[in-house]
Amino acid sequence: MKKLIVGNWKMNGSLASNAELLGAVLRQLGAGPWGSDVAVCASAPYLAQLQSLLQGSGVAWGAQDVSAHESGAYTGEVSAAMLKDFGCRYAIVGHSERRQYHHEHGELVAAKARRALDMGITPIVCVGETLAEREAGYTEVVVKRQLAAVVHLLGHCSSEIVVAYEPVWAIGTGLTATPEQAQAVHAVLRAQLRVATTHADRNRILYGGSMTPANAAELLRQPDIDGGLIGGASLKAEDFVQIVNASAPVTV
Ligand code: PEP
Repeated sequence: MKKLIVGNWKMNGSLASNAELLGAVLRQLGAGPWGSDVAVCASAPYLAQLQSLLQGSGVAWGAQDVSAHESGAYTGEVSAAMLKDFGCRYAIVGHSERRQYHHEHGELVAAKARRALDMGITPIVCVGETLAEREAGYTEVVVKRQLAAVVHLLGHCSSEIVVAYEPVWAIGTGLTATPEQAQAVHAVLRAQLRVATTHADRNRILYGGSMTPANAAELLRQPDIDGGLIGGASLKAEDFVQIVNASAPVTV
């Protein structure tokens, strides 16, 4: 299975800086196909720009959220059908910043994943424990509970999701889970997916949390780490491309 490297730009960017960043990423990546799948997720107003700039490039794009509702009186929301209209490939759901600042809970995250899948958009379901939860020994319990809400709703369709393990204490902090810590949690998530679906071999489980060119290769070498969700480093073309290159098997 090819690894998947996804940039999460968060609430950053402008028409000018996005064009510059993507131009540099495409130039530095060189002609595809690459050893890994590559995508970037931007804020909603810029998705049409991504559609146009990335057309035919081999780099996919996605949204950072999607509504749990189909359509109607939900001011400010963006539906999965709207994203699909533009050719959106991925939608991040349940990012810890949304769980923390927007009080998103398991069932809501699951409903968002369902809406995305219904429109043929791959949800990137984020799970992860806080530092207090890790220190109290609850890491497994927390991530399993977060993933359980989603697989409970999706059933056998769970094989179609991407999961991102993002320890909250590692996001944007410069602290990274060690490869061993990350692998241990990924193995737990993999086992949980195997119980939920007979096609768990299709699930890619990404690691996210201060991944950089310096630590990417070691993390991505772990057997159950199938790629990365990259925040800060995805805003620098050189760093992002170095992570993509670190994720791809060397071909001679
Ligand atoms: C993220 O926001 O998904 C993330 C992993 O951020 P960072 O790489 O900056 O820690």
